[in-house]
Amino acid sequence: MSEWATEKTEDFMEVRYRNDGTLFSGKSEFQKVEVVQTRWHGKMLLNDDLVMLTEADEFVYHDMITHVPLFTHPDPKKVLVIGGGDGGTAREVLRHENVEKVVMVEIDKMVVDACLEHIPVTSDVLKGHPKLELIIGDGVKFVNETKEKFDVIIVDSTDPIGPAQPLFGPDFYRDVFSCLSENGIVVSQGESPWYNVPIQKSMMKVLGDQFPFVRMYQFGNLTYPGGAWCFTYASKGLDPIKDFDTKRVEESNMKFRYYTKDLHSASFALPQFLLDNVEEFFRG
Ligand code: SAM
Repeated sequence: MSEWATEKTEDFMEVRYRNDGTLFSGKSEFQKVEVVQTRWHGKMLLNDDLVMLTEADEFVYHDMITHVPLFTHPDPKKVLVIGGGDGGTAREVLRHENVEKVVMVEIDKMVVDACLEHIPVTSDVLKGHPKLELIIGDGVKFVNETKEKFDVIIVDSTDPIGPAQPLFGPDFYRDVFSCLSENGIVVSQGESPWYNVPIQKSMMKVLGDQFPFVRMYQFGNLTYPGGAWCFTYASKGLDPIKDFDTKRVEESNMKFRYYTKDLHSASFALPQFLLDNVEEFFRG
């Protein structure tokens, strides 16, 4: 990579970050993986030239993908993370004391190894944790074959290209539904409300066809294109606002840099243009 780390959004936009040195560059069976030292944003992980995280703002995404479902569920004991090879989501899940077991299924060992070597702030937890089982394998195959049940499933995936494509489809979510416990919740990386409208609509339709409760929530991001980004939320019934007991956050004594109990509920308040795109798929 040259003196700029460049992320292109299709053929109409390019964002450049000053690259003070490429720390890792490799090509796995699944994707190109790079870690660069940026001038302002700290270390940056890119898969196939798309920004996965930067040290400057990873806490925003990892707080919101994790703490919203884990504080909505009254007693999450078993959690499954699909993807999330940088370790940031597993790190945040493992901060919840009531969680007894986390299974993380990441398809690409190169992502895990590159992060273990260069981005310890997210990946340190992947060195080994008594509650964590790290499986290098395909999350689609895992949910199809496992007999285990999970209280919360977090799909921390790349965009729907290559091995991540089935993670956005109906067969995958049928299997996710089957391996969720009675009160289960699934939260997934839900793309940009500006640039990925067709993907958002199709994801929400897939969820709406499968789950009795479906919503979308939003957060302000620094390094994903356009700033605004979404997660999808689907459950067997738990409502992230009505069933959210704020006392669980207060009593946890956990400190956050982005998540707050007010932001938890507020993130489900969507702007009208986004509602116009996805509200028809809300359930419950
Ligand atoms: N926050 C990130 C984003 O959206 O930019 C996602 C971060 S994480 C690095 C995404 C991970 O999903 C990648 O490491 C990729 O290898 C993994 N992944 C993609 N498809 C997968 C699959 N079918 N099973 C398991 N992991 C998968």
